[in-house]
Amino acid sequence: MRGAVVVGTDTDVGKTAFSILFLSAFAEHFAYWKPVETGDSDTETVRRLVPGATVFDPLARFVEPVAPALAARREGRPMPGVAEVLAAVPRVDRPLLVETFGGPLSPLIDDVLQIELIRGLSLPVVLVTSAAVGAVGRSLQAVRAMDSLGVRPDVLVLLGQDDPYAVEQITRHLPGLPVVGLNPPVGEWAPEPAVRAAVEQQERLDTVFRAVAARSPTRRPPDEGFVVLDRQTVWHPYTSLQSPDTPLPVVAAEDEFLILSDGRRIIDGISSWWTILHGHRPPEIMQAIRDATYQLDHVLFAGATHPHAVELADDLLRSMPWPPGGRVFYSDNGSTAVEIALKMAYQSWCHRGEPGRTLFVGFENGYHGDTFGAMSVGRDPVFFGRFEPLLFRTLQVPVSADALDAALACHTGEVAAVVIEPLVQGAGGMRMHTPAELRAIAEVTRTHGSLLIADEVMTGFGRTGSLWAFDQAGIAPDLVCLAKGITGGVLPLSATLASPGVVAAFDTPDRAQTFFHGHSFTANPIACAAAVASWKRLQTRRWEGDTKRIEAFWERHVRPLAAFSGVKDVRVRGLIAGVELDVPGGYLAAVGAVLRRSCLESGVLLRPLGNVLYAMPPLCTSDESLVRIGDGMTRAIRACGL
Ligand SMILES: *Cc1c(COP(=O)(O)O)cnc(C)c1O
Repeated sequence: MRGAVVVGTDTDVGKTAFSILFLSAFAEHFAYWKPVETGDSDTETVRRLVPGATVFDPLARFVEPVAPALAARREGRPMPGVAEVLAAVPRVDRPLLVETFGGPLSPLIDDVLQIELIRGLSLPVVLVTSAAVGAVGRSLQAVRAMDSLGVRPDVLVLLGQDDPYAVEQITRHLPGLPVVGLNPPVGEWAPEPAVRAAVEQQERLDTVFRAVAARSPTRRPPDEGFVVLDRQTVWHPYTSLQSPDTPLPVVAAEDEFLILSDGRRIIDGISSWWTILHGHRPPEIMQAIRDATYQLDHVLFAGATHPHAVELADDLLRSMPWPPGGRVFYSDNGSTAVEIALKMAYQSWCHRGEPGRTLFVGFENGYHGDTFGAMSVGRDPVFFGRFEPLLFRTLQVPVSADALDAALACHTGEVAAVVIEPLVQGAGGMRMHTPAELRAIAEVTRTHGSLLIADEVMTGFGRTGSLWAFDQAGIAPDLVCLAKGITGGVLPLSATLASPGVVAAFDTPDRAQTFFHGHSFTANPIACAAAVASWKRLQTRRWEGDTKRIEAFWERHVRPLAAFSGVKDVRVRGLIAGVELDVPGGYLAAVGAVLRRSCLESGVLLRPLGNVLYAMPPLCTSDESLVRIGDGMTRAIRACGL
């Protein structure tokens, strides 16, 4: 057992009286720490009343009996935040009773509530309230509020006169939560009455102890156990079943960090496969998800609709360089967003009387997902060579308007669409082309009468420095695929946006010309709610400053790696920095594993694309974390000994 945290439903409900009773009964088992206190010192009271207990000094003490954040401001002193308190938890050979101040939602620092600290401690929670009138309502309010913020009390203590009715009511409404009535020591505040009260109520205090002890082992996942079971049961993407690397046991995430079961905080330098946009668990998106769950779970999207999907579609269409009349088709991952674009493109030609346009053109090193249509247009020999006999016919051309022009000229009337990742080819090795090149490619496509599909699955939502990468080229694609960052990366959702021209081809009463496509979870309401919240956050335009800041950092700290021996090329755009090493083997290059392990040792999670080491951290990544990523990359490249 690592201890317990004592939380009051409000200030002055008897947290310290409880701590004194508990420590009087279990002094040799528990140590005591109140990290932050204001006004009269509870720490001194505990020291005086339980002389045998190990009592640690507070991390921060303020004289005025007001909220600590306010006291700190008035006294002109800093108030520690969650990370500082967690870092200061005393190391002690016995479980620690940590007493909080005020209530669970009292402000800790100016923009963080104490509940964040309570969650961060990840200790069993003893919720204390006064048994005075109103105990039932007070208890339910506190438990429900804490529950909605991810903290579940393990035991409730009613401090004061016994009140069987309150206990009965609370138990009825909070089944499974042990409720214990405790009488505070009577008479003067001195050691003897405290010990007497503890002895008299030993059984009740045992109940509290058991509730705390029962819960603590389950709070921390048994890392050994779950990783071993993982190896027997789970098939991971892009991972050999004989991979020597154990998967990272991730138990929590916040901002740019992943928290492992051993407590390590590593920097998520690739935004969890290019999904996490703002940072992990952005409060407004998590709140939007909670709010959405009070109204809906999932509902079919054929012949039914819901507000979040409509609001999001409207927002997305307004950001496109199209006149009104476009449409949004939802699915749930980037690959299917691409499949849908391919099917729409082909079917639109059928409706226009050109069913012979069966050819799609992709670019060398392009990547569009792992389903069959996406593999056909991506056509990477390492990823998809195995499936070559099953793929449909496409052309792959170098990323060059001239090459595209020549290819299209050879296939007049055959090409349904050209598919491109605008500005940055991601999985193909973070290869970049200029907005001018992209513009020329779009013009050539238009000249030959084909449709242009912009696969913005990776590049969308600001990652390249503009909302859409194609914005920088001033072009208007016919179909746009979005996924990954659309929900801020929190839930799976994707969208295929069709321009008014494509939509017009389907605008007919002929039912045979319906677009017969859909997925069970098309436009899942909770995912759409997350996406709306992410979109609102983008509207604040804070992302523009962050992409500029991060890009400038890459220019200063990663660009110079180009001078290293063994470095072939350095590429930077927006949040993305890629370093290509001069070694053979491409995606299967052995240096990949060396680079990854070295970066992990520096506390940074990067997954090189073979010989290309790259970073693409979330927008919130601090300057300090950027330095760690840059240093980690430098060290990793040195470790390859090129
Ligand atoms: C990741 C990616 C996809 C595939 O998306 P999934 O959600 O993994 O299916 C498609 N296109 C691009 C450009 C991508 O980066």
